[in-house]
Amino acid sequence: MFKWDTLIINANVATMAEGSHEYGMIENGAVGILDGRIEWVGTTAGIKNSIETLAKELIDAEGCLLTPGLIDCHTHLVFAGNRADEFEQRLNGVAYTEIAKQGGGILSTVRATRAASFDELYAQSLPRFQALISEGVTTVEIKSGYGLDFNSELKMLQVAKKLGEEYNIQVKTTLLAAHAVPPEYKDNADKYVDVICTEIIPKIADLKVADCVDAFCEGIGFSYDQTKRVFDAAARWGFPVKLHADQLSDLNGAALVAEYAGLSADHVEYTSLKSVKAMAKAGTVAVLLPYAFYSLKETKLPPIEAFRKHHVPIAVSTDCNPGIAPCSSLLTTMNQACIQFSLTPEEVLAGVTRNAALALGIEDEVGSIEFGKKANMVLWNVKKPADLCYWQGMNRVKRIFK
Ligand SMILES: [Zn+2]
Repeated sequence: MFKWDTLIINANVATMAEGSHEYGMIENGAVGILDGRIEWVGTTAGIKNSIETLAKELIDAEGCLLTPGLIDCHTHLVFAGNRADEFEQRLNGVAYTEIAKQGGGILSTVRATRAASFDELYAQSLPRFQALISEGVTTVEIKSGYGLDFNSELKMLQVAKKLGEEYNIQVKTTLLAAHAVPPEYKDNADKYVDVICTEIIPKIADLKVADCVDAFCEGIGFSYDQTKRVFDAAARWGFPVKLHADQLSDLNGAALVAEYAGLSADHVEYTSLKSVKAMAKAGTVAVLLPYAFYSLKETKLPPIEAFRKHHVPIAVSTDCNPGIAPCSSLLTTMNQACIQFSLTPEEVLAGVTRNAALALGIEDEVGSIEFGKKANMVLWNVKKPADLCYWQGMNRVKRIFK
């Protein structure tokens, strides 16, 4: 009778355990897995019994790095269509307002997503999902928000769930009906907010297809008051909330989501010190999205020093979407978080493991290599964690455990 299903030995284990320093690193470490859970973590030398008899499968990591499975905690990867032509138009000097007038921008994605069948939407989203998980991502958050009516939002969430089921990946779904005002409510955003609060949220709650509710609080999205109404409805139906907050201007979005004890405030370039303090008090995570920052050539940095000083957990994510973040590589955004935001490689790895789990409210299950957690882990063809942020354009995944 074996004690474990799998035993990994001679690994540099970056446990990323809460409160640990220097990645919670165990050099020459060993991890025992039983029934998909982590049953033992320690040094290889610390295993006294003869190693061959302990587990059905013995893996000698030969000094390679073992990390928690990566978590991409903010994506819009389910959508139909493609905006490469708009990208090209813009670079050929066509103004964004002109492109929008021609029906481009987010509403072109809404049209394509509404028109796509479930199977078409699944097929178009799949390569993005596969690209993400090939880099060791074992948990992905996927938002709706290109349907903007009940049926299309539902279709997006169901496609997201199916992706997770087919590939044995933990997918957390987020209802983002308050992403943009749909064309049929063009001059009446408040009426659309009514529809979200009285129709879309209650029906989605009944069907149990979303884990969370999100909104886009911005001049070009929804106002502070409209966002508050969406959050009130979310709270009535038992949803935790998160928010696209203070990306282009400071509307006190981060403070608002903190007021609802929200899981995360995302983007947060323009977040004020007052809002940072509110986030710290509420335990709301700051989710940084360096690809969006890069592609908009944004220059206003998020208040990173204030997040550090007030112990606001920082997560990092791709924001994978067809507009401002056409990127399905979490490793790329990890490098960008170092270069653009001057996060340390250790902060970045925490941002795609432990703190990303916090941003999804699943920190008890995943995000670190600790006893009792899910055995979602990645063995890399590198020795040191900084390598993951340092070199670009090479996928060094050796083996994924999930
Ligand atoms: Zn987003």
